[in-house]
Amino acid sequence: MDWCVSMPKIELHAHLNGSIRDSTLLELARELGEKGAIIFSDVEHVILKSDRALNEVFKMFDLIHVITTDHKTVARITKEVIEDFAADNVVYLELRTTPKRNDSKAMSKRSYVEAVLEGIRSVNSVEVDLSGELKTGAFAHSHSVDGLCNGIGSKKIYVRLLLSIDRRETAEAAMETVELAMELKDFGVVGIDLCGNPNVGQWLTFLPALEFAKKQGLPITLHCGEVPNPVEIHAMLDFLPKRIGHACCLEDEDWKLLKRLEIPVEICLTSNIKTETIASADVHHFADLYKSNHPLILCTDDCGVFSTSLSAEYALASSAFGLGKREMFQLAQKAIDFIFASERVKEDLKATFASAHTKLN
Ligand code: IMP
Repeated sequence: MDWCVSMPKIELHAHLNGSIRDSTLLELARELGEKGAIIFSDVEHVILKSDRALNEVFKMFDLIHVITTDHKTVARITKEVIEDFAADNVVYLELRTTPKRNDSKAMSKRSYVEAVLEGIRSVNSVEVDLSGELKTGAFAHSHSVDGLCNGIGSKKIYVRLLLSIDRRETAEAAMETVELAMELKDFGVVGIDLCGNPNVGQWLTFLPALEFAKKQGLPITLHCGEVPNPVEIHAMLDFLPKRIGHACCLEDEDWKLLKRLEIPVEICLTSNIKTETIASADVHHFADLYKSNHPLILCTDDCGVFSTSLSAEYALASSAFGLGKREMFQLAQKAIDFIFASERVKEDLKATFASAHTKLN
């Protein structure tokens, strides 16, 4: 569906290391193989596999993290991921990533995020707005953005960062991530995410860091209800996060609570189906939430790992739930209300959508 590509879109749930191009992962793995650090033939088929159950997905991330450990690689994958989203006419991207400490690469959580920021600044195929400061330098002498626009699409992409806390981390490491997010508030970091294998870690471990973030005014999104865990799901909803991701395994009481609290849900159709968290698109909770007019945002989760794109998610929702061009456009536009960036950015995005609306009709 070409119009799903042409339409401006907003991406609010995309993990950096889950969004890497397969071709880049293979290239990096091959290089590591040549250095004897890994056995390339053992990992090649793992990278190219398309369907993975939820636990297998986290094994895949462990492999990806082995392949992407140094600063230069982190900057490179960030640049490519942004270029890919821009090429798909994503006009606002909230990219999330877990700051990682790795002593063998002289990497601290801070230097990891600096490498990510460096990657964002090095994008030159499209104009990037990071933290309100407009990066025009590279763009000014730059490459044509033909092929990124499709007549109406993005010549500019807003990029903001969410720092993720991985459920494997300690309370101290979680707090370090929140403190880092506070320090980098003026440099493009707009919030905090709690992610990672939902079968690992305890909500109470992360609560002090998340409460501290909330007190400091940092918006929070939580991976919530990827597996059945009623006590945790209830505690998460009670915490009143600004958004939640997935919401696959809620019980009746919690659906009611979620709807009453009007917490926006980041919906990742392909991810939920491929990991077999949800059997198929036609039984996905998107339908019920959409019918109830509950705030929701279509997202990719991990477009590399799940071989998808945001326009593919729009096309899937359109065909699975019988929604036309107009409804899909409105859904994309509504996402503006749920971004963590400033009112100024929201106003700019409203203007972008208004102009695209005129051209699409
Ligand atoms: P990174 O934070 O940039 O390294 O992106 C990969 C990380 O995102 C993984 O190690 C997980 O912690 C997290 N992640 C990606 N997809 C999912 C998901 O579907 N559920 C929970 N966590 C996820």
